[in-house]
Amino acid sequence: MTETGKSPLFPTYARYPITLVKGEGSRLWDDTGKEYIDLMSGIAVTNLGHAPQAVKEKLVEQLDQLWHVSNLFHIPNQEKLAKLLTDNSCADAVFFCSTGAEANEAAIKLARRYSQKVLQNGRYEIITFNMSFHGRTLATLTATGQDKVKEGFHPLPEGFKYAPYNDIEAVRSLVNDKTCAIMLEMIQGEGGVLPADPQFVQDLAALCKQENLLLIVDEIQTGVGRTGKLFAYEHYGIEPDIFTLAKGLGAGFPIGAMLGKAHLAEGFSAGSHGSTFGGTPIATAAGIAAVETVLANKLPERAAELGAYTVEKLESKLAGNPLVAKVRGVGLLIGIECTQPAGEMISEIHKQGVLVIPAGPNVIRLVPALTIPQEDLDKGLDIMCEVLARK
Ligand code: PLP
Repeated sequence: MTETGKSPLFPTYARYPITLVKGEGSRLWDDTGKEYIDLMSGIAVTNLGHAPQAVKEKLVEQLDQLWHVSNLFHIPNQEKLAKLLTDNSCADAVFFCSTGAEANEAAIKLARRYSQKVLQNGRYEIITFNMSFHGRTLATLTATGQDKVKEGFHPLPEGFKYAPYNDIEAVRSLVNDKTCAIMLEMIQGEGGVLPADPQFVQDLAALCKQENLLLIVDEIQTGVGRTGKLFAYEHYGIEPDIFTLAKGLGAGFPIGAMLGKAHLAEGFSAGSHGSTFGGTPIATAAGIAAVETVLANKLPERAAELGAYTVEKLESKLAGNPLVAKVRGVGLLIGIECTQPAGEMISEIHKQGVLVIPAGPNVIRLVPALTIPQEDLDKGLDIMCEVLARK
């Protein structure tokens, strides 16, 4: 705050009245010394907890060596992280950037450029889904299927159409000779923790093949182990042409990535896309340490087990609670759908020392670190359920 009591920040966030100053594992402390159990991980970012040792060591080592060089030079960490990701996914090539929106922006640009320059079919339309969330840049907020993020930002880029999620016939009816891609989250995160139906995803993949469309999966929130698989598309037995990562990829260090099949590499050429901070030696050092830690400690499997345990525990503790309509989740991306707006309940849960976040107006979202100690998870869930029982 300035002397006039006005914040020097643009008011883009409605901030909670908490100032967090220290974090370790799944615990956080505010500026009064109050301790919190973290069940939100900075919105699915600090997936290895706060200040994870393996990432910290790798970062310190890299800080001593080299922070930044231009992408006009070879960056060995970038090649190493790209290999780690492609060896463990259906993708063959990676573009590094710094945020989720930037990764999705790259996916949108690649889909269009591949269609226009390589296939030379003049296609540019992308079908996305109601209640999706893909970012805040102009193209990604246009791709997002929620009007509230678009208000006041018109005119928006052309070439996006929206279908109801899990409705294959609606998608079919939107495909035309301008469609180049379909883009979706396997589990809509911001939209309310809504998983895609397996049959819908199978049908979408078949439709893409039949119509020669690219399938783009936004794994910004679901990627790197969160849902019980390294990538959420693995639950569905499909292989996207393109998928995007950010959030958990650097375990708290900013890094994003757009990954695609080998033939799509022709869609970009030198100078067609770029990012000054994309894949710097430091960012990719964090990425390597984070992904290696996830793989070495079998954290996707842990997320699957702890997620199933959490949903079962919540279902039993919240049974009969009139505030709760449904508990759902995939791995450690879990939503408690409430029968009324969840804002007040979330503030009360914070007051009791547990950090959770909303997903849409009525859903309490839990996205704890994949490494959360069992006792922290249990304590956090118990405190939250007590608040919901009292309300
Ligand atoms: N896509 C999804 C599914 C997200 O959840 C988010 C962020 O919440 C984004 C994209 C945008 O990521 P970023 O805020 O890093 O630009």
